[in-house]
Amino acid sequence: MVKSIGYAALNSKDPLSTFNFERRCLRENDIFIEILYCGVCHSDIFQVKNGWKKSIYPLVPGHEIIGLVKEVGPKVKKIRKGEAVGVGVLVDSCMNCRNCKEDLEQYCESGPVSTYNGKDYETGEITYGGYSNNIIVREEFVLKIPKNLNLAAAAPLLCAGITTYSPLNHWNVGSESRVGIIGLGGLGHMAIKFAKAKGASVTLFTTSENKIESAKQLGADEVILSKNNSEMEGKQKALDFILNTVGAPIDLTPYLNCLSRDGVMVVVGLPDKQHPAISLDNLVFHRRSLAGSLIGGIKETQEMLNFCGKHKIVSNIELINIENINEAFERTEKGDVQYRFVIDMKSLPNK
Ligand code: NAP
Ligand code: ZN
Repeated sequence: MVKSIGYAALNSKDPLSTFNFERRCLRENDIFIEILYCGVCHSDIFQVKNGWKKSIYPLVPGHEIIGLVKEVGPKVKKIRKGEAVGVGVLVDSCMNCRNCKEDLEQYCESGPVSTYNGKDYETGEITYGGYSNNIIVREEFVLKIPKNLNLAAAAPLLCAGITTYSPLNHWNVGSESRVGIIGLGGLGHMAIKFAKAKGASVTLFTTSENKIESAKQLGADEVILSKNNSEMEGKQKALDFILNTVGAPIDLTPYLNCLSRDGVMVVVGLPDKQHPAISLDNLVFHRRSLAGSLIGGIKETQEMLNFCGKHKIVSNIELINIENINEAFERTEKGDVQYRFVIDMKSLPNK
Protein backbone atom coordinates (compact mmCIF):
# COMPACT_ATOMS: atom_id res chain seq x y z
CA MET A 1 0.00 0.00 0.00
CA VAL A 2 1.01 3.63 -0.48
CA LYS A 3 1.23 5.89 2.57
CA SER A 4 -0.65 9.18 2.27
CA ILE A 5 -1.38 12.16 4.44
CA GLY A 6 -4.24 14.59 4.06
CA TYR A 7 -7.01 16.45 5.82
CA ALA A 8 -10.20 14.57 6.64
CA ALA A 9 -13.58 15.05 8.22
CA LEU A 10 -13.99 12.37 10.89
CA ASN A 11 -17.70 13.16 11.29
CA SER A 12 -20.22 15.72 10.07
CA LYS A 13 -19.66 18.20 12.92
CA ASP A 14 -15.96 18.62 13.70
CA PRO A 15 -13.46 20.68 11.70
CA LEU A 16 -11.20 18.90 9.21
CA SER A 17 -7.93 17.66 10.71
CA THR A 18 -4.77 15.85 9.60
CA PHE A 19 -5.27 12.23 8.66
CA ASN A 20 -2.79 9.48 7.80
CA PHE A 21 -4.11 6.76 5.50
CA GLU A 22 -3.14 4.29 2.77
CA ARG A 23 -3.98 4.15 -0.90
CA ARG A 24 -4.02 1.08 -3.15
CA CYS A 25 -0.79 -0.11 -4.79
CA LEU A 26 -0.32 0.95 -8.39
CA ARG A 27 -2.31 -1.22 -10.81
CA GLU A 28 -0.95 -1.81 -14.30
CA ASN A 29 -3.00 1.03 -15.87
CA ASP A 30 -2.67 3.41 -12.91
CA ILE A 31 -0.98 6.79 -12.55
CA PHE A 32 0.65 7.83 -9.28
CA ILE A 33 0.26 11.58 -8.85
CA GLU A 34 1.97 13.89 -6.34
CA ILE A 35 -0.68 16.52 -5.66
CA LEU A 36 0.40 20.17 -5.94
CA TYR A 37 -2.95 21.98 -5.67
CA CYS A 38 -6.57 21.19 -4.93
CA GLY A 39 -9.56 23.52 -5.35
CA VAL A 40 -12.26 23.89 -2.69
CA CYS A 41 -15.68 23.21 -4.23
CA HIS A 42 -18.90 23.97 -2.39
CA SER A 43 -19.72 20.27 -2.89
CA ASP A 44 -16.81 19.47 -0.53
CA ILE A 45 -18.62 21.40 2.20
CA PHE A 46 -21.94 19.61 1.58
CA GLN A 47 -20.13 16.26 1.65
CA VAL A 48 -18.15 17.05 4.82
CA LYS A 49 -21.35 18.11 6.60
CA ASN A 50 -23.35 15.18 5.19
CA GLY A 51 -25.76 17.61 3.51
CA TRP A 52 -26.59 15.07 0.81
CA LYS A 53 -26.91 12.24 3.38
CA LYS A 54 -24.40 10.00 1.60
CA SER A 55 -21.17 10.75 3.42
CA ILE A 56 -18.92 8.00 4.75
CA TYR A 57 -16.29 8.98 7.34
CA PRO A 58 -13.39 9.47 7.51
CA LEU A 59 -13.91 11.63 4.41
CA VAL A 60 -10.99 13.24 2.56
CA PRO A 61 -12.57 15.81 0.22
CA GLY A 62 -11.16 17.35 -2.95
CA HIS A 63 -11.98 16.84 -6.62
CA GLU A 64 -10.19 19.73 -8.33
CA ILE A 65 -6.75 18.16 -8.33
CA ILE A 66 -3.57 19.22 -10.09
CA GLY A 67 -0.34 17.31 -9.68
CA LEU A 68 2.77 15.82 -11.22
CA VAL A 69 3.04 12.23 -12.44
CA LYS A 70 5.56 10.41 -10.28
CA GLU A 71 5.07 6.86 -11.58
CA VAL A 72 3.03 5.02 -14.20
CA GLY A 73 1.86 1.39 -14.34
CA PRO A 74 3.35 -0.89 -17.06
CA LYS A 75 0.25 -0.74 -19.31
CA VAL A 76 -0.15 3.05 -19.25
CA LYS A 77 -0.09 4.45 -22.78
CA LYS A 78 -0.66 8.20 -22.93
CA ILE A 79 0.58 9.73 -19.69
CA ARG A 80 4.28 10.18 -18.93
CA LYS A 81 6.32 10.57 -15.76
CA GLY A 82 6.88 14.27 -14.93
CA GLU A 83 3.77 15.54 -16.75
CA ALA A 84 1.37 18.01 -15.10
CA VAL A 85 -2.02 16.34 -14.88
CA GLY A 86 -5.47 16.86 -13.41
CA VAL A 87 -8.12 14.71 -11.75
CA GLY A 88 -11.71 15.86 -11.42
CA VAL A 89 -14.85 14.48 -9.82
CA LEU A 90 -14.57 10.94 -11.24
CA VAL A 91 -11.89 8.26 -10.97
CA ASP A 92 -13.67 5.30 -12.61
CA SER A 93 -16.85 4.05 -14.29
CA CYS A 94 -18.00 0.77 -15.85
CA MET A 95 -16.81 1.88 -19.35
CA ASN A 96 -19.39 -0.46 -20.81
CA CYS A 97 -22.90 0.99 -20.51
CA ARG A 98 -24.51 3.20 -23.12
CA ASN A 99 -23.58 6.39 -21.29
CA CYS A 100 -19.93 5.42 -20.79
CA LYS A 101 -19.68 4.39 -24.45
CA GLU A 102 -20.98 7.84 -25.41
CA ASP A 103 -18.25 9.49 -23.26
CA LEU A 104 -20.76 10.45 -20.57
CA GLU A 105 -19.16 8.56 -17.68
CA GLN A 106 -20.78 10.93 -15.19
CA TYR A 107 -24.10 9.25 -15.97
CA CYS A 108 -22.64 5.67 -15.85
CA GLU A 109 -25.51 3.26 -15.32
CA SER A 110 -23.51 1.21 -12.79
CA GLY A 111 -22.69 4.41 -10.92
CA PRO A 112 -19.40 6.20 -11.61
CA VAL A 113 -16.75 6.11 -8.87
CA SER A 114 -16.37 9.54 -7.30
CA THR A 115 -12.89 10.81 -6.48
CA TYR A 116 -13.86 10.78 -2.81
CA ASN A 117 -16.68 9.12 -0.89
CA GLY A 118 -16.94 6.66 -3.78
CA LYS A 119 -16.44 2.88 -3.79
CA ASP A 120 -13.56 1.28 -5.70
CA TYR A 121 -15.02 -1.29 -8.14
CA GLU A 122 -12.33 -3.91 -7.41
CA THR A 123 -11.81 -3.68 -3.67
CA GLY A 124 -14.95 -1.93 -2.42
CA GLU A 125 -12.70 0.48 -0.52
CA ILE A 126 -13.89 4.07 -0.07
CA THR A 127 -12.03 6.57 -2.22
CA TYR A 128 -10.13 9.49 -0.69
CA GLY A 129 -9.85 12.83 -2.49
CA GLY A 130 -7.37 15.56 -3.20
CA TYR A 131 -6.89 17.31 0.15
CA SER A 132 -3.81 15.10 0.38
CA ASN A 133 -0.24 14.65 -0.84
CA ASN A 134 -0.89 11.99 -3.49
CA ILE A 135 -3.52 10.04 -5.42
CA ILE A 136 -3.61 6.93 -7.59
CA VAL A 137 -6.00 6.99 -10.55
CA ARG A 138 -6.50 4.81 -13.63
CA GLU A 139 -5.11 6.41 -16.78
CA GLU A 140 -8.44 6.94 -18.53
CA PHE A 141 -9.55 9.39 -15.79
CA VAL A 142 -6.36 11.49 -15.75
CA LEU A 143 -6.43 14.77 -17.72
CA LYS A 144 -3.58 16.59 -19.41
CA ILE A 145 -3.10 20.26 -18.45
CA PRO A 146 -2.13 22.68 -21.25
CA LYS A 147 1.41 23.96 -20.65
CA ASN A 148 0.48 27.66 -20.80
CA LEU A 149 -1.93 27.52 -17.84
CA ASN A 150 -0.97 28.48 -14.29
CA LEU A 151 -1.26 25.18 -12.41
CA ALA A 152 -2.84 26.51 -9.19
CA ALA A 153 -5.43 28.54 -11.10
CA ALA A 154 -6.17 25.59 -13.39
CA ALA A 155 -7.25 23.33 -10.49
CA PRO A 156 -10.88 24.60 -10.35
CA LEU A 157 -11.29 23.82 -14.05
CA LEU A 158 -11.54 20.14 -13.08
CA CYS A 159 -14.97 20.67 -11.48
CA ALA A 160 -16.21 24.28 -11.62
CA GLY A 161 -14.84 24.53 -15.16
CA ILE A 162 -16.33 21.42 -16.71
CA THR A 163 -19.65 21.75 -14.82
CA THR A 164 -20.28 25.11 -16.48
CA TYR A 165 -18.61 24.41 -19.85
CA SER A 166 -20.62 21.24 -20.51
CA PRO A 167 -24.17 22.71 -20.41
CA LEU A 168 -23.12 25.76 -22.45
CA ASN A 169 -21.88 23.31 -25.06
CA HIS A 170 -24.79 20.89 -24.88
CA TRP A 171 -27.36 23.68 -25.30
CA ASN A 172 -25.31 25.26 -28.14
CA VAL A 173 -24.61 28.62 -26.53
CA GLY A 174 -22.91 30.84 -29.10
CA SER A 175 -22.51 34.41 -30.27
CA GLU A 176 -26.27 34.87 -30.77
CA SER A 177 -27.14 33.67 -27.27
CA ARG A 178 -28.46 35.87 -24.50
CA VAL A 179 -27.19 34.06 -21.41
CA GLY A 180 -28.11 34.54 -17.76
CA ILE A 181 -25.99 33.15 -14.93
CA ILE A 182 -27.34 32.93 -11.39
CA GLY A 183 -24.79 33.20 -8.57
CA LEU A 184 -21.25 34.52 -8.70
CA GLY A 185 -19.25 31.86 -6.90
CA GLY A 186 -16.77 29.24 -8.09
CA LEU A 187 -19.08 27.88 -10.80
CA GLY A 188 -20.69 31.21 -11.68
CA HIS A 189 -17.44 33.04 -12.39
CA MET A 190 -16.26 30.24 -14.69
CA ALA A 191 -19.63 30.33 -16.47
CA ILE A 192 -19.15 34.04 -17.23
CA LYS A 193 -15.70 33.35 -18.70
CA PHE A 194 -16.90 30.48 -20.90
CA ALA A 195 -20.07 32.23 -22.10
CA LYS A 196 -18.03 35.30 -23.04
CA ALA A 197 -15.40 33.16 -24.80
CA LYS A 198 -18.25 31.72 -26.87
CA GLY A 199 -19.32 35.24 -27.81
CA ALA A 200 -22.62 35.30 -25.89
CA SER A 201 -24.02 38.34 -24.11
CA VAL A 202 -24.06 37.68 -20.37
CA THR A 203 -26.37 38.86 -17.59
CA LEU A 204 -25.31 37.92 -14.09
CA PHE A 205 -27.90 37.59 -11.32
CA THR A 206 -26.40 38.09 -7.88
CA THR A 207 -27.59 38.53 -4.32
CA SER A 208 -24.38 40.40 -3.44
CA GLU A 209 -24.15 44.10 -4.11
CA ASN A 210 -20.39 44.03 -3.52
CA LYS A 211 -19.85 41.67 -6.48
CA ILE A 212 -21.33 43.96 -9.15
CA GLU A 213 -18.06 45.61 -10.18
CA SER A 214 -15.97 42.46 -10.26
CA ALA A 215 -18.69 40.65 -12.25
CA LYS A 216 -18.31 43.31 -14.92
CA GLN A 217 -14.53 42.94 -14.82
CA LEU A 218 -15.01 39.21 -15.36
CA GLY A 219 -16.96 40.04 -18.53
CA ALA A 220 -20.64 40.27 -17.53
CA ASP A 221 -22.42 42.75 -19.82
CA GLU A 222 -25.09 43.39 -17.23
CA VAL A 223 -25.50 42.62 -13.54
CA ILE A 224 -28.92 42.29 -11.90
CA LEU A 225 -29.35 42.45 -8.14
CA SER A 226 -31.90 39.68 -7.73
CA LYS A 227 -33.45 41.14 -4.57
CA ASN A 228 -34.37 44.26 -6.55
CA ASN A 229 -37.80 43.43 -8.07
CA SER A 230 -37.80 46.24 -10.61
CA GLU A 231 -34.44 45.08 -12.02
CA MET A 232 -35.80 41.51 -12.26
CA GLU A 233 -38.98 42.66 -13.97
CA GLY A 234 -36.94 44.68 -16.46
CA LYS A 235 -35.36 41.43 -17.63
CA GLN A 236 -38.62 39.52 -18.29
CA LYS A 237 -38.53 37.31 -21.43
CA ALA A 238 -35.08 38.74 -22.26
CA LEU A 239 -32.85 35.64 -22.14
CA ASP A 240 -32.45 32.42 -24.14
CA PHE A 241 -30.50 30.38 -21.62
CA ILE A 242 -29.98 30.58 -17.87
CA LEU A 243 -27.41 28.60 -15.89
CA ASN A 244 -28.37 28.30 -12.24
CA THR A 245 -25.27 27.74 -10.08
CA VAL A 246 -26.80 28.56 -6.69
CA GLY A 247 -26.12 26.07 -3.91
CA ALA A 248 -29.17 27.06 -1.85
CA PRO A 249 -32.92 26.58 -2.29
CA ILE A 250 -34.35 29.61 -4.11
CA ASP A 251 -37.61 30.56 -5.79
CA LEU A 252 -36.94 29.78 -9.46
CA THR A 253 -40.03 31.60 -10.78
CA PRO A 254 -38.63 35.15 -11.08
CA TYR A 255 -35.68 33.71 -13.04
CA LEU A 256 -37.85 31.51 -15.29
CA ASN A 257 -39.81 34.68 -16.09
CA CYS A 258 -36.61 36.08 -17.60
CA LEU A 259 -36.61 33.35 -20.28
CA SER A 260 -38.02 34.11 -23.71
CA ARG A 261 -40.20 31.61 -25.61
CA ASP A 262 -38.27 28.31 -25.91
CA GLY A 263 -35.78 29.51 -23.30
CA VAL A 264 -33.97 26.93 -21.15
CA MET A 265 -32.88 27.04 -17.52
CA VAL A 266 -30.21 24.50 -16.64
CA VAL A 267 -29.67 23.79 -12.96
CA VAL A 268 -26.19 22.76 -11.83
CA GLY A 269 -26.40 23.97 -8.22
CA LEU A 270 -27.10 21.13 -5.80
CA PRO A 271 -28.49 22.50 -2.52
CA ASP A 272 -28.99 20.21 0.44
CA LYS A 273 -32.68 21.21 0.57
CA GLN A 274 -35.32 21.28 -2.18
CA HIS A 275 -36.26 24.44 -4.09
CA PRO A 276 -39.83 25.66 -3.57
CA ALA A 277 -42.14 24.12 -6.20
CA ILE A 278 -42.76 26.04 -9.42
CA SER A 279 -45.96 26.31 -11.45
CA LEU A 280 -45.60 24.26 -14.64
CA ASP A 281 -47.78 26.85 -16.39
CA ASN A 282 -44.66 28.97 -16.39
CA LEU A 283 -43.07 26.41 -18.73
CA VAL A 284 -46.18 25.42 -20.72
CA PHE A 285 -47.31 28.91 -21.75
CA HIS A 286 -43.87 29.88 -23.08
CA ARG A 287 -42.54 26.47 -24.23
CA ARG A 288 -39.74 26.95 -21.68
CA SER A 289 -37.59 24.07 -20.40
CA LEU A 290 -36.10 23.37 -17.00
CA ALA A 291 -33.17 20.94 -17.12
CA GLY A 292 -30.21 19.74 -15.08
CA SER A 293 -26.61 18.86 -15.81
CA LEU A 294 -23.87 16.96 -13.95
CA ILE A 295 -20.16 17.83 -14.41
CA GLY A 296 -19.05 16.47 -17.83
CA GLY A 297 -17.49 13.31 -19.27
CA ILE A 298 -13.73 12.76 -19.46
CA LYS A 299 -13.48 13.47 -23.21
CA GLU A 300 -15.36 16.74 -22.80
CA THR A 301 -13.24 17.66 -19.75
CA GLN A 302 -10.10 17.32 -21.87
CA GLU A 303 -11.76 19.42 -24.60
CA MET A 304 -12.61 22.07 -21.99
CA LEU A 305 -8.98 22.12 -20.75
CA ASN A 306 -7.72 22.49 -24.32
CA PHE A 307 -10.28 25.29 -24.88
CA CYS A 308 -8.91 26.99 -21.73
CA GLY A 309 -5.36 26.64 -23.07
CA LYS A 310 -6.40 28.23 -26.36
CA HIS A 311 -8.39 31.08 -24.76
CA LYS A 312 -6.05 31.48 -21.74
CA ILE A 313 -8.86 30.82 -19.29
CA VAL A 314 -8.18 29.90 -15.66
CA SER A 315 -10.01 30.45 -12.41
CA ASN A 316 -9.63 33.52 -10.15
CA ILE A 317 -8.23 31.99 -7.00
CA GLU A 318 -7.18 32.66 -3.42
CA LEU A 319 -4.30 30.30 -2.64
CA ILE A 320 -4.37 29.02 0.95
CA ASN A 321 -2.39 26.78 3.26
CA ILE A 322 -4.23 23.65 4.29
CA GLU A 323 -4.32 24.61 7.98
CA ASN A 324 -6.72 27.40 6.93
CA ILE A 325 -9.19 25.04 5.27
CA ASN A 326 -11.87 25.30 7.97
CA GLU A 327 -11.86 29.09 7.72
CA ALA A 328 -12.04 28.76 3.91
CA PHE A 329 -15.16 26.59 4.28
CA GLU A 330 -16.79 29.25 6.49
CA ARG A 331 -15.92 32.01 4.05
CA THR A 332 -17.21 30.00 1.06
CA GLU A 333 -20.51 29.46 2.87
CA LYS A 334 -20.80 33.24 3.28
CA GLY A 335 -19.98 33.84 -0.42
CA ASP A 336 -16.77 35.57 0.71
CA VAL A 337 -14.24 34.27 -1.84
CA GLN A 338 -13.04 35.65 -5.16
CA TYR A 339 -13.83 33.17 -6.58
CA ARG A 340 -12.29 29.85 -5.59
CA PHE A 341 -10.01 28.78 -2.77
CA VAL A 342 -7.16 26.53 -3.88
CA ILE A 343 -5.04 24.65 -1.36
CA ASP A 344 -1.26 24.70 -1.80
CA MET A 345 -0.25 21.15 -0.83
CA LYS A 346 3.26 22.25 0.11
CA SER A 347 1.59 23.36 3.32
CA LEU A 348 0.71 19.77 4.35
CA PRO A 349 2.70 18.58 7.38
CA ASN A 350 5.31 15.89 6.76
CA LYS A 351 4.33 12.39 7.76
P1 NAP B 1 -20.08 28.87 -4.29
O1 NAP B 1 -18.70 29.21 -4.74
O2 NAP B 1 -20.41 28.91 -2.85
O3 NAP B 1 -21.09 29.82 -5.12
C1 NAP B 1 -22.47 29.76 -5.01
C2 NAP B 1 -23.05 31.16 -5.22
O4 NAP B 1 -24.47 31.06 -5.15
C3 NAP B 1 -22.69 32.17 -4.14
O5 NAP B 1 -21.46 32.79 -4.36
C4 NAP B 1 -23.85 33.17 -4.24
O6 NAP B 1 -23.63 34.06 -5.33
C5 NAP B 1 -25.00 32.28 -4.63
N1 NAP B 1 -25.85 31.99 -3.45
C6 NAP B 1 -25.47 31.34 -2.33
N2 NAP B 1 -26.52 31.28 -1.46
C7 NAP B 1 -27.54 31.86 -2.07
C8 NAP B 1 -28.90 32.10 -1.70
N3 NAP B 1 -29.38 31.71 -0.52
N4 NAP B 1 -29.70 32.73 -2.59
C9 NAP B 1 -29.23 33.12 -3.78
N5 NAP B 1 -27.95 32.94 -4.17
C10 NAP B 1 -27.12 32.31 -3.32
O7 NAP B 1 -20.46 27.40 -4.77
P2 NAP B 1 -19.94 26.57 -6.05
O8 NAP B 1 -18.72 25.80 -5.68
O9 NAP B 1 -19.93 27.44 -7.22
O10 NAP B 1 -21.11 25.47 -6.16
C11 NAP B 1 -22.44 25.87 -6.38
C12 NAP B 1 -23.38 24.70 -6.32
O11 NAP B 1 -23.11 23.80 -7.41
C13 NAP B 1 -23.24 23.82 -5.07
O12 NAP B 1 -24.52 23.37 -4.71
C14 NAP B 1 -22.40 22.63 -5.55
O13 NAP B 1 -22.62 21.50 -4.77
C15 NAP B 1 -22.97 22.48 -6.93
N6 NAP B 1 -22.13 21.75 -7.88
C16 NAP B 1 -22.76 21.02 -8.82
C17 NAP B 1 -22.04 20.36 -9.80
C18 NAP B 1 -22.75 19.58 -10.87
O14 NAP B 1 -22.12 18.76 -11.51
N7 NAP B 1 -24.02 19.84 -11.14
C19 NAP B 1 -20.66 20.42 -9.80
C20 NAP B 1 -20.03 21.22 -8.83
C21 NAP B 1 -20.76 21.89 -7.87
P3 NAP B 1 -24.07 35.59 -5.24
O15 NAP B 1 -23.34 36.15 -4.05
O16 NAP B 1 -23.61 36.14 -6.55
O17 NAP B 1 -25.55 35.62 -5.09
ZN1 ZN C 1 -17.03 20.27 -7.35
